[in-house]
Amino acid sequence: MSQLSETFPTLDCSQCILTPRMVEVFQHPRIKLYTYSEVEAVDGYIGNFKVSIRKKARSIDEAKCNGCGACQKACPNKKILSEFDAGLGKRTAIYVPFPQAVPNIPVIDRARCSYFRGKAKGSKKDLCGKCKEACGRDAILFDQTDTIVTEDVGAIVVAQASASTRSAKSRTATRSAAMASTATAQCRTSSTGSNSSVSPRLRTHGR
Ligand code: SF4
Ligand code: SF4
Repeated sequence: MSQLSETFPTLDCSQCILTPRMVEVFQHPRIKLYTYSEVEAVDGYIGNFKVSIRKKARSIDEAKCNGCGACQKACPNKKILSEFDAGLGKRTAIYVPFPQAVPNIPVIDRARCSYFRGKAKGSKKDLCGKCKEACGRDAILFDQTDTIVTEDVGAIVVAQASASTRSAKSRTATRSAAMASTATAQCRTSSTGSNSSVSPRLRTHGR
């Protein structure tokens, strides 16, 4: 998602340009979008790659979550500096990085969450859990773990990220590669032999 309000030289609204594209990619029947994920390994050769993708634990059941935001309102840790806002704004420990994020599903920042910090210190009792209490869909999964997904991919497109911060740059590039890889795989498996590649050069959840 663009962090600039307008684009040069026409001063078009960058969010108005990008947001519909992101939604189109998310809803496209032949694109599988992995967010909060990283490429772990690539094996094989041109036309026949096998890509292992680590789907990191959001601590959320994506199938149940409807993005209502009640968990974020309930979270008492509200003064964490927002990475998307370059530290000028605040976010909660359970958060969506920016309002138009695709998908609109939060993630728990375990390093800043009272529940996980308490567990890391060996606390026997649950120290918070207010997000779980607030969630009407029982979508908070504190014990969720990373999963490895394997995709058969015909071609890989490595898209250079345009992250504004150096630290986020490599993560975003990796994520873009994963997205491009799976998009290509979808094209190969669902088409009638056409091997067209899709290159969704988007920034996704910056986590
Ligand atoms: S357990 Fe508490 S601190 Fe952690 S995300 Fe939920 S509400 Fe926030
Ligand atoms: S309260 Fe539950 S359903 Fe609503 S956004 Fe949070 S996790 Fe998703």
